[in-house]
Amino acid sequence: MKILVINCGSSSLKFQLIDSASEDVICKGLCERIGIDGSRIVYTPAGKDKITKESPMPDHNRAIELVIEALTNKEDGVVSLDEIGAVGHRIVHGGEKFTKSVVIDDEVIKAIEDVSDLAPLHNPANLIGIRACQKVMPGVPMVAVFDTAFHQTMPEEAYIYGLPYSYYEKYGIRRYGFHGTSHSFVSKRAAEILGKNATDLKVIVCHLGNGASLSAVDGGKCIDTSMGLTPLEGLIMGTRTGDIDPSVVEFIMKKENSTVADVMNLVNKKSGVFGLSNDLSSDFRDLEDAYVAGNPAAKRAVDAFVYRVVKYIGSYTAALGRVDAICFTAGVGENSGFVRKLICDKLQFIGATLNEEANKVRGKEEIISAADSKVTLMVVPTNEELAIARDTYALCK
Ligand code: ADP
Repeated sequence: MKILVINCGSSSLKFQLIDSASEDVICKGLCERIGIDGSRIVYTPAGKDKITKESPMPDHNRAIELVIEALTNKEDGVVSLDEIGAVGHRIVHGGEKFTKSVVIDDEVIKAIEDVSDLAPLHNPANLIGIRACQKVMPGVPMVAVFDTAFHQTMPEEAYIYGLPYSYYEKYGIRRYGFHGTSHSFVSKRAAEILGKNATDLKVIVCHLGNGASLSAVDGGKCIDTSMGLTPLEGLIMGTRTGDIDPSVVEFIMKKENSTVADVMNLVNKKSGVFGLSNDLSSDFRDLEDAYVAGNPAAKRAVDAFVYRVVKYIGSYTAALGRVDAICFTAGVGENSGFVRKLICDKLQFIGATLNEEANKVRGKEEIISAADSKVTLMVVPTNEELAIARDTYALCK
């Protein structure tokens, strides 16, 4: 079966067409600037060159129509419409309602709407993507795969905030965590690579991209993760602060005479390694180059990022009681041997030692710990689209 995987944002839509049998990507692409002037679709059929088509996209319905056109047109299309057996949608927030992927029906749509106040930027965009697909591909089964689902096994002591309990009861204020599809995929894959059952392993997954989070996975189940009610909590990220004292918000508002919205914009979009490096860059490639060249602002940003990761690894080692493997994934985790080395050099306290030669790897599976390391260090590239396609196939075959 051919599965169309859709990741729909407010003004963009990423897609991949995946063959469920071979797990090959048949075509992948992106619609940009939906609802904005200058919209275009960019896609790459497997083994062919990238194709760019400028085309007005007043809304997501038109974007989905263009995706279908790209996939099925006579010139460079890769399938006929009736070959697309199911659609898998990435949904950011499933609240407490969704602990696993589900086939989308009216009730599921209503439930995704009900938790939209927890992800006001993302869930409405995800719903628009679902509705647009329903319109353009009526009758094709669709599956919702939630970023939060994998983390629903966290015990209450890990997910609850130290607020009056009534705020959890009234509003659902608690830690949910994100990147769950990636943490699930990588922790399962790590077990396969090590030839062990996931149930026998204690793993820490470091998803280090522009957005970044860690998870502690015990016997295949998530017991803690670093993101919270929203993706702002936890690690210092590309442009997000990660953990800060909430009083900082009020303090800045008073000093700068600014609004809550201003400060939320600051802590989400202008902080992290970007803000710490005096706005040098949120891209770790730039920061690494500047760090090596002796730029103190880049050093400050990367060192603070690394320190926070190590601190979380320490606390998750305590939460797990033992750690068998630490997996690095996502843009930075998969590609930056430099950042991995800075992190791993601070992990002697758990007996982890790096194999510097193996650590030169980029973007592929590799064990990067030394033979005598007490903890296996590994690079495990994530593949959220494939994980979505697998869940979709499993529910629709
Ligand atoms: P997201 O999905 O959160 O946007 P990604 O997982 O795609 O993020 O990761 C993006 C980050 O990965 C960027 O900060 C980018 O600099 C970093 N990255 C990509 N390749 C490299 C590399 N070779 N070395 C260092 N960092 C890299």
